[in-house]
Amino acid sequence: MALAYIGLGSNLEDPLAQVTRAFAELADLPTTALLARSSIYTSRAIGPAQPDYTNAVALLDTQLAPIALLDALQAIEQAHQRVRVQHWGPRTLDLDLLLYGDQTIAVERLTVP
Ligand code: AMP
Repeated sequence: MALAYIGLGSNLEDPLAQVTRAFAELADLPTTALLARSSIYTSRAIGPAQPDYTNAVALLDTQLAPIALLDALQAIEQAHQRVRVQHWGPRTLDLDLLLYGDQTIAVERLTVP
């Protein structure tokens, strides 16, 4: 088991609903428990002019290995029909693996922390 912190962000299509739904989907991942969720807060976007972001952080206890967890996060993003029209542009749902235990990971698909 490993403790993993996930950053959640949305600034399109009812961001509060997107983030709330993502918490439930994280809780439903196999061999994974949602231990804690942060408050949901709003922050200004960096980059091209776009709506404010709704952000939160989830703490998971998971048996998924880092890449398997990344696959699961990307599947959730896809399920939210994530729009990725421009780099740093607006998105329906963005999930970032912020910390995975105390591991440092630097492979093509995954950089942690
Ligand atoms: P972005 O569009 O900015 O969310 O970037 C998505 C890309 O970042 C994907 O291709 C991931 O494989 C890659 N990536 C690298 N490190 C991470 C990480 N810690 N969490 C989520 N995605 C990551």
